[in-house]
Amino acid sequence: MITEELQQAFLDVFGQKAEATFFSPGRINLIGEHTDYNGGHVFPCAITLGTFGAARKRDDQKLRFYSANFEDKGIIEVDLNHLVNDPEHNWANYPKGVLKFLKEAGHPIETGMDVYVYGNIPNGSGLSSSASLELLTGIIAEELYGLNLERLDLVKIGKQTENDFIGVNSGIMDQFAVGMGAENQAILLDTNTLKYQLAPLDLGDNVVVIMNTKKRRELVDSKYNERRAECEEAVSELQAGGVDIQTLGELDGQSFDQYGYLIKDANRLKRARHAVLENGRTMQAFAALEAENIPEFGRLMNASHVSLEHDYEVTGLELDTLVHTAWEQDGVVGARMTGAGFGGCAIAIVAKDKVDTFIKAVGDHYREVVGYDAEFYVAEIADGAKVLSRA
Ligand code: ADP
Ligand code: MG
Repeated sequence: MITEELQQAFLDVFGQKAEATFFSPGRINLIGEHTDYNGGHVFPCAITLGTFGAARKRDDQKLRFYSANFEDKGIIEVDLNHLVNDPEHNWANYPKGVLKFLKEAGHPIETGMDVYVYGNIPNGSGLSSSASLELLTGIIAEELYGLNLERLDLVKIGKQTENDFIGVNSGIMDQFAVGMGAENQAILLDTNTLKYQLAPLDLGDNVVVIMNTKKRRELVDSKYNERRAECEEAVSELQAGGVDIQTLGELDGQSFDQYGYLIKDANRLKRARHAVLENGRTMQAFAALEAENIPEFGRLMNASHVSLEHDYEVTGLELDTLVHTAWEQDGVVGARMTGAGFGGCAIAIVAKDKVDTFIKAVGDHYREVVGYDAEFYVAEIADGAKVLSRA
């Protein structure tokens, strides 16, 4: 969406000119899945699918939110002095949470605002439209109220909103990628220390294709919490056996092999093995990218998927069909699920000149096996959340 369209849409809804327009990306994770809450590494990047915004400060205490994606909800009006989660406010609970935690952190937000939102990320597909909306709200507040904010603080406030306001027990990866992303760069993030390194995502003659299962969202949250609990239990067992760690991310493959016997349950052993080995693969993938060894990068993606399928068990028919079919196609460097799993999206690295035949072949086979259509998008790697224009 271009800024003139955003300005016009804002004017149509609120009857005045916006002060500024904004963009906040979605994200994909290249490798390092279910490692963020295990103190390991993740390797995400921001994408050009994202959430656009336009906003204007008000003189009173009203917050008014409008999303073109939720037209039926109309303008959602909220009192700036009463920021609690209210199901009636639907999607506006995300911006409410962000503003609440910004205020609590001492940032001066003394009057309300009007906010227009439009997103082109499919919601609930694991491309993190929620983190995109959170960071969008954050940069809108930063701009309109002239806040003095470190980007990392905004990232943490996005996570806090997701965890403590919305009630989703997720790690820091999504907000970090959306907040800190840079065009054509992927971010290797150590979720234990929050140290990060950017790596140019130069895939040569290849592009990243996102494959959306379009599977209805169910079970994700309960299974997610179950996996977290299994990993925590495995850490407790290792600690009880004298292994001095706080998270699985502190172990490498060799030490895990030495102490794995302390984990008393076969499923927990598999979950922990995934967390440890996936962390190793993620660091190797970063090195492979730095060395411009794209085939190695693809191989690590494939290994990641196998581990998520068989050890972590978070894939399912839809994701496995997409990824296994992708592996068989000409010009595919690697493919894996991305995000929490069970549904949502997978990604593949595909030769540019093979993308069309790839999408056709994988799409056809998916329809045959699953019974409905998958969706495909070619991902471009975008900047993190930013101001687009000022009036
Ligand atoms: P994901 O983050 O994987 O896309 P979530 O369920 O975490 O899925 O977040 C989706 C929710 O975020 C939507 O149901 C809605 O409440 C909110 N949201 C995301 N994008 C928008 C948007 N453009 N306008 C309004 N709300 C949005
Ligand atoms: Mg989300």
